[in-house]
Amino acid sequence: MTKTISILGSTGSIGRQALEVVDGLPGSFNIFGLAAGRNLELLKKQIAKHKPELVSVATRELAFRLGKEFKGIEIVWGKDGLKQIAENSRNDLALVAVTGLNGLEPTISAINNGVNVALANKETLVSAGNIVTRLAKEKKVSIIPVDSEHSAIYQCIKGKDYSLVNKIILTASGGPFRTKSPEEIQNATVENTLNHPSWFMGDKITVDSATLMNKGLEVIEAHWLFGLDYTKIKVVIHPQSVIHGAVEFLDGSVISQMGLPSMHIPIQFALTYPGIYPGIKSNSLDLTQISNLEFEPPDLNRFPCLKLAYEAGKKGGTCPAVLNAVNEEAVYAFLQGKIRLTDIAHIVAESLEQLDNINNPSYDDILEVDKTSRKIVDEVFLSKF
Ligand code: MN
Repeated sequence: MTKTISILGSTGSIGRQALEVVDGLPGSFNIFGLAAGRNLELLKKQIAKHKPELVSVATRELAFRLGKEFKGIEIVWGKDGLKQIAENSRNDLALVAVTGLNGLEPTISAINNGVNVALANKETLVSAGNIVTRLAKEKKVSIIPVDSEHSAIYQCIKGKDYSLVNKIILTASGGPFRTKSPEEIQNATVENTLNHPSWFMGDKITVDSATLMNKGLEVIEAHWLFGLDYTKIKVVIHPQSVIHGAVEFLDGSVISQMGLPSMHIPIQFALTYPGIYPGIKSNSLDLTQISNLEFEPPDLNRFPCLKLAYEAGKKGGTCPAVLNAVNEEAVYAFLQGKIRLTDIAHIVAESLEQLDNINNPSYDDILEVDKTSRKIVDEVFLSKF
């Protein structure tokens, strides 16, 4: 059976790999829509190859430029363009792989129209997990995680009752500063922060991996995806990145998902769900070639962002949205050389203290808090540096 899908964020790291998965499974997918930002060169190649019916780009100007070359295709733009692609009921599935809170609106639109979502955008669940998961349940729409740890856990629980889960374990590589001293972390340059040992990803998420904020966001993401209390979500540092996630059931049995680090596996799992088709073969995992698998607890003193994320998650309300927005702004400031890596945690902690928490926030509350949080980072904190 051919599945009709759309890819939001088609020129990004996940989007490109998703199209590789599509290429690896000829006849399995029909591409309805592709949404990209500004990378027209790559998008043009993707359009020529995959022949989507609807394409979206960042701006009106880019849409016109693209329209001159592709006459038969409808080209839209901006936030509304993303939404138009995601919500079209021709889609069996929409892969949401845009960055930041840009993923929220198209995710909600897709769910509202009964389109299943493969979610590669963790900010959506971190900031608005209550709204998104409630709506998905109401509309009987599946949210299939693309994040490798969550995909691993989803695969471990698949076919079993969630009430049998005792706890879940999210693994983290530990990033480039796992063995570094607090001083070394404080003096980290952008260059050595972006030098991740086992995964190749975009800049923002690579910085988040270095501070362990990425794992913190993933803890909140897991809370919403799997409906688990924070006390049942554990993080373990595992530098080899072979075990991506594990689930301990009530009888003490633990099931884990393993594989060499490759996003093709979780992407393919999400795109083909609930069926698993043979497709791209990742390099085969040869356990005899791996001399040892190491595990250690996360050091919350050197990596306070993880602690902040647990705290924000437990407080709930708009705290996770604040955490997410403030972190994102602080990460960009770090990437631009404005602040130190360790300032990110300070700015997040102070913002969480200063901003009021709204319980059970509405969609508008989330957007408002997101905006306010970013403004505060710019006006209050970045002016100090
Ligand atoms: Mn992940």
